[in-house]
Amino acid sequence: MAKIAINIATGSLQQAEMIVGIDLGTTNSLVAIIHPESKQPTALQEHNTSSLVPSIVHFDELGNAIVGEEAKQYLETDPQNTIFSAKRLMGKNYKDISANADFFTYKVIDDDTDSLVKVQVGNRFYSPIELSSFILKELKQRAEHILKTPVSKAVITVPAYFNDAQRQATRDAGKLAGLDVLRIVNEPTAASLAYGLGLRKDEEKTIAVYDLGGGTFDISILHIYNGIFEVLSTNGNTYLGGDDIDRAIVEYWIKQLGIPLKKLQADKELSQGFRLRAEEAKKHLSSENSFSVLWKHHVLEITKEIFESLIQPLVDQTITSCKNALADARLTINDIDTIVMVGGSTRVPAVKEAVSKFFGKPVNDSVNPDEVVALGAAVQADILAGNNKDFLLLDITPLSLGIETMGGLMDTLIPRNAKIPIKAGRQYTTHKDGQSDMRISVFQGERDLVKDNRKLAEFSLKGIPGMPAGLPKVEVSFLINADGILVVKAKELRSGVEQEIEVRPQYGLTDDEVEKMLLDSITHAKDDMQVRALVEARTEGEQILAVTEKFVAKNTSLLTKDELVATAGAMQVLQLALTMDDKNLIHTKIEEINEVTRPFAERAMDVAISGALKGKAINS
Ligand code: AMP
Repeated sequence: MAKIAINIATGSLQQAEMIVGIDLGTTNSLVAIIHPESKQPTALQEHNTSSLVPSIVHFDELGNAIVGEEAKQYLETDPQNTIFSAKRLMGKNYKDISANADFFTYKVIDDDTDSLVKVQVGNRFYSPIELSSFILKELKQRAEHILKTPVSKAVITVPAYFNDAQRQATRDAGKLAGLDVLRIVNEPTAASLAYGLGLRKDEEKTIAVYDLGGGTFDISILHIYNGIFEVLSTNGNTYLGGDDIDRAIVEYWIKQLGIPLKKLQADKELSQGFRLRAEEAKKHLSSENSFSVLWKHHVLEITKEIFESLIQPLVDQTITSCKNALADARLTINDIDTIVMVGGSTRVPAVKEAVSKFFGKPVNDSVNPDEVVALGAAVQADILAGNNKDFLLLDITPLSLGIETMGGLMDTLIPRNAKIPIKAGRQYTTHKDGQSDMRISVFQGERDLVKDNRKLAEFSLKGIPGMPAGLPKVEVSFLINADGILVVKAKELRSGVEQEIEVRPQYGLTDDEVEKMLLDSITHAKDDMQVRALVEARTEGEQILAVTEKFVAKNTSLLTKDELVATAGAMQVLQLALTMDDKNLIHTKIEEINEVTRPFAERAMDVAISGALKGKAINS
């Protein structure tokens, strides 16, 4: 895609409110807009520089931050104060990243008061949100400088496998940078939009988005239908990318030259020198057949053939991920209509060829792979700005959301694949007399038992006035806003007490975990249904026992001796049935108790009974 210089002389930019699209990347970030005249998505760049801003922040002794190319200079000379890959820390706690702690050359700490990681620079502490906000601020300033107009609204992209905590962290970073984040968009969705995919309402397509960047690899399978982008599956390796390709070349060279790896590791300047030459060689070999350079009396050479054999294992690994992603989406290669290439490393011809060969189709690579995500974010921004009136881009929930009810069951309020924004609500009640607190536990996942799902949050609705079990009416509502942030509210309707939380889950879910959760729900669907039926039968049985016991205690004088004996007998039998794993038996015994109690229940109808039997109870 051609890059278009912004003509600021026209003044047309001043009129409409500009919403920018931002790709907040692990290695590089950039900002794009829809050019007001050409109407083309355009990456913003200062005169004669790259549109890419390295996602690196350097702090001096006073704590002043510089971002981008300038900060990159300090990577080797001042590693403790130079923060790269902050995106890898977003929404994570130390446990999440401890396996890869060696990766970070700066100090990542886990203070006990906050389970989310912080980065220590000198005697200052920065959250990944703050670090990302420095990068976003830089992009905002860049955009304002080029456009000569204030920029306050943005669409920011995140990987498809980012969970709610990571999305919320990204949103907060935007806020901190002075940006109103109108939408968080999945990177593969943005990349598809940049290719114009999904812009026609009647379009139905299945797309594979292959994203090989500097340090990360992911493959996402998307289904577009009615302007909705659904992520069917994601796979990848968050520690695989162009850097590994560079390393493979360096290792080849030092072996050729007989330099021990230890020597290289001990000499930062030497290793950095080799690394830079390796990257140069790699880029050169994207268009030429061989590379050769004289450096420090060493002749560094490599042919395309050798290069391709060196990177074969890396490429194979990505293809295995593609296979896994297809399997998870329950699709075959023939189901994929379009393949979109993202990330600088997809410029390597061997990568393109391998992907194209695997899918049996040519790949889409005409848009600059470093810019394609930001350009797509700009397309989305333009839609949100209302410039594309007949198109409303909807996102959907990747996993179901619900709360825990009696017996540890998942009660889904918002199903998976619901279009967002969305609001849903349901009424619940208490299961104990005089219960004043109700615990609302919010879960995400597809399984019938909450223990198999992921807990997002928990809070208590306190101050419910004393009432018999079953009488309070607690309305629990879920609201997911346009960014996928969930607000859960519980309100006791009789008394008006209410409590609300915004769900900011603290623990990261990896992409593998999300996939596993979906897969598990399919493999366990039958077992889950049986368990649910049994738990529901038991809960109903327990409720009947409690209500009957209470009723008998209160109305003993109304009952004949025979009725008392018959009721006690039926209760005992039901009690026994509840200890067995047979839902049919429980139902039969419930029916029997109902038969026995019906005549006198009718005689002395008590609201408490009808109340208790209505509505689902939540564990206190
Ligand atoms: P990204 O994270 O998308 O910015 O990807 C940057 C990665 O792409 C780095 O590893 C670069 O070395 C790599 N890259 C950039 N240009 C080329 C090229 N022409 N050929 C191969 N790799 C490239």
